[in-house]
Amino acid sequence: MSDHSEIFSLTGSEISHGIDNGIFSSQEVTLAYLSRIREVDEKVHAFLSYDEDDMLRQAKLSDQRRASGKSLGPLDGVPVGLKDVISVKGQPLTAASKILKDYRSPYDATVTVKLRSAGAVVGGRLNLDEFAMGSSTENSAYGPTCNPWDLNRVPGGSSGGSAAAVAARETPFTLGSDTGGSIRQPASLCGVVGMKPTYGRVSRYGLAAFASSLDQIGPFAQTVEDAAHLLEIISGHDPLDSTSYPTDVSSFSKILNEPIKPCKLGLPKEFFGPGMDDEVRKSIDEVIQWYRQKGYELVEISLPTTELSVPVYYVIATAEASSNLARYDGIRYTTRSEKAENAIDVYAKSRGEGFGQEVKRRCILGAYGLSSGYYDAYYLRAQKTRTLIRDDFDKAFAQVDAILTPTSPTPAFKFGEKSEDPISMYLSDIYTISTNLAGLPGISVPCGFTENGLPVGMQLIGQAFEEGKLLSIAHDYDRELQFGRKQPNL
Ligand code: GLN
Repeated sequence: MSDHSEIFSLTGSEISHGIDNGIFSSQEVTLAYLSRIREVDEKVHAFLSYDEDDMLRQAKLSDQRRASGKSLGPLDGVPVGLKDVISVKGQPLTAASKILKDYRSPYDATVTVKLRSAGAVVGGRLNLDEFAMGSSTENSAYGPTCNPWDLNRVPGGSSGGSAAAVAARETPFTLGSDTGGSIRQPASLCGVVGMKPTYGRVSRYGLAAFASSLDQIGPFAQTVEDAAHLLEIISGHDPLDSTSYPTDVSSFSKILNEPIKPCKLGLPKEFFGPGMDDEVRKSIDEVIQWYRQKGYELVEISLPTTELSVPVYYVIATAEASSNLARYDGIRYTTRSEKAENAIDVYAKSRGEGFGQEVKRRCILGAYGLSSGYYDAYYLRAQKTRTLIRDDFDKAFAQVDAILTPTSPTPAFKFGEKSEDPISMYLSDIYTISTNLAGLPGISVPCGFTENGLPVGMQLIGQAFEEGKLLSIAHDYDRELQFGRKQPNL
């Protein structure tokens, strides 16, 4: 088969199957996606860069491996795009910031090494909010990404490029990072599957850090099944990341079809209050009905402290960011201001010129919350509240197997609608942030469309290191409804 349009509509598993059965080669697949990128990325702007020759070289090697019977597994020869905060040796890594505009990674991130060991074609660099700070991809120094379902609307963020690229069928798989919702919220707004694993499940080595106690790398795909495959490949203990957890990676994709019965899903009453868009509510109600009909038990639960998640997150995440981003100082690998006349100037002007407004806002807020005299009132209090939030989840999981919520309070919003009001932007992560504070796995699964044709996503939250169970509950729904397989007209 060499008709490009037939290739790029397929899911990752179908592509893998096609390559395996000699229906098409990895080179044909890679060429199909490259031509799709050329066709639609002018409109979508999901990619910041891609190295065509390098991708085709990897595809050729994959085809050679396969021809000599040495395939590295299901992902061998399949392209995977990366959010532009994940290191690929010799490739640019901008974090969508001017301050890293000329930077190239000197080494591969652990997830990149794992993708290579699985034979994947490590593909282009995907757009994001600068340093992953934002919910709309409007904070990219290189211009926003557009939502493939409506080009006048945002794709969500911060992994907007990773979500939009899968929705626009420019690549079957991508990786993003999620600190407060940055995989799940854009997945929901773009109508694809996105998963944040348990904190410690996936190595953060080689990920440009935003808030180290919250960041996790995770997969995007059209289906839960595909996300499970990709998660399995990138997971596992890594001695290079001291927070990576030494636990076995079970075969998530194999247990997908094992029904978890009886199964209890919790509906946190605090998540179903005011602020949720009517059409989102309607879609989630239908999801609840679906699970009920399939024999799941749905019960109301309470997560009382999660009401404080957004303020707690903005104290902790900004504190960690102010410390992590201190390394971008104009001295080492960042762009240096040409106007600097002395040492202090080098720091101040390089950072002043290199960082965008939201990044500066976060560094200032974070430094304030950590400063002596304010530390106890802000940072310490936020940490204590974080423990209470975690306790809420522990209590809930004594009763239920997973928690069901919407992923985002609204469908995709218009450009400019929230960018002037940081608080309203921060509230778009109201359902996702507590999962990061508690370190739990969460997945967003497409669950319908609004009357205007905008995707809606549901979120399932699981117990720590219970990704297998979470994925099988999500897959039960997704394999029947398959909303992620719907394709926008571009
Ligand atoms: N939108 C949230 C923020 O701006 C979450 C970002 C993320 O998960 N990286 O901090």
